Amino acid sequence: MLQTDVLIIGAGAAGLMCAATAAARGRRVLVLDHANKAGKKILMSGGGRCNFTNLYCEPSNFLSGNPHFCKSALARFTQWDFIGLVAKHGVPYHEKKLGQLFCDNKSSDILELLLAECAEAGAQLRLDTAVHSIEKTAGGFLLQSDLGEVACQSLVIATGGLSIPTLGATGFGYQVARQFGHELLPTRAGLVPFTITEPQLKTLCTELSGTSVEDCRVSCNGQSFVENILFTHRGLSGPAILQISSYWQPGDTVHIDLLPHIDLPEWLATQQRERGNSELKTLLAELFTKKMATLLVDSWFSNKPLKQYTPGELKTIAERLSDWQLVPAGTEGYRTAEVTLGGVNTDEVSSKTLESLKVPGLYFIGEVLDVTGHLGGFNFQWAWASGYAAAQYV
Ligand SMILES: Cc1cc2nc3c(=O)[nH]c(=O)nc-3n(C[C@H](O)[C@H](O)[C@H](O)COP(=O)(O)OP(=O)(O)OC[C@H]3O[C@@H](n4cnc5c(N)ncnc54)[C@H](O)[C@@H]3O)c2cc1C
Repeated sequence: MLQTDVLIIGAGAAGLMCAATAAARGRRVLVLDHANKAGKKILMSGGGRCNFTNLYCEPSNFLSGNPHFCKSALARFTQWDFIGLVAKHGVPYHEKKLGQLFCDNKSSDILELLLAECAEAGAQLRLDTAVHSIEKTAGGFLLQSDLGEVACQSLVIATGGLSIPTLGATGFGYQVARQFGHELLPTRAGLVPFTITEPQLKTLCTELSGTSVEDCRVSCNGQSFVENILFTHRGLSGPAILQISSYWQPGDTVHIDLLPHIDLPEWLATQQRERGNSELKTLLAELFTKKMATLLVDSWFSNKPLKQYTPGELKTIAERLSDWQLVPAGTEGYRTAEVTLGGVNTDEVSSKTLESLKVPGLYFIGEVLDVTGHLGGFNFQWAWASGYAAAQYV
């Protein structure tokens, strides 16, 4: 029978950070993962360049049933701590925008950094290894796995969420939580594109598929994000849409201001005064692409020289462009979602140690918990911070 101090299930972002940190404290650490490769999501992240943290990371960048839960861990391992680790390993990086830090080269730089930290500290890693059962013992836990029996004092669940099953995601962590009497908050896909089925809107999205509109304000349920949106064959995507998807529930209306930086009533009045013979399509082509201006006008308004519009008609045009209201049919779901909202209820986990308040020695870290970051490097920062915090106590 294998024996170890700390057994971590899941060799993803949180699990590897926890392993390296706990091993550096002198704990014997074994990490098991059913996948054939560690950190598959790290490799896929940030379009292959891993948006590994955010300069402006704050607790307000996270959604959770208990918005205070993430504060303690985030304060003890900050974005500056991870940046320090990146610098230690000489990984070149840059800020893309809005504080988002990306690798200059490739995401594997971050995975290699974590694996090097694990190796240096002496944490053991076993891939292609499934866990079949977990039992609580007097001294800790006894697991049946592809390696046979494994006994440990501390058991860390770092199996992530349900997003992208093809990258190894499973509901295993939720199953363990349930087994030990933990409450689960309903899970749903977050940071995910919307699908549109309403025929006229669907046609608009399909026709404009691939077109991006910069800096739109997208709002829902009291939250707003100003970022790009992208039309797709299925509906809408792009950073602003992914962000708002985490706040959207089926049936909710999404509001899109396509031109938040322009005072549209004022702009239209000026154009009518100064360029009254120009058609609406021609003028809007200065704010959008020609194709988009044409499609918007054909779908929403009638096209004529601006001088022929009544004040009421101009008001309607301004309102439609600054408050386009739509009800998505749904989201693309876990197949393409970057994260899973909901999960292990944080009310039953210590925010200081990440240990279960029900079962001593059992820890939950990373995305399996009901803590979900905004787009922009926040989800990895939560994985690093929660993994680091638990590693001090396992
Ligand atoms: C395409 C994509 C791009 C992303 N880009 C970014 C980004 O640029 N920046 C950012 O901050 N966040 C990004 N995210 C989100 C980020 O990847 C996750 O929030 C983060 O990886 C969560 O870390 P974790 O360790 O909790 O889980 P994961 O990294 O998902 O690791 C979980 C591990 O557990 C293993 N596992 C699962 N089930 C079992 C089981 N039954 N037995 C054994 N092992 C198991 C998995 O194989 C995996 O290795 C992205 C996500 C996706 C899907």
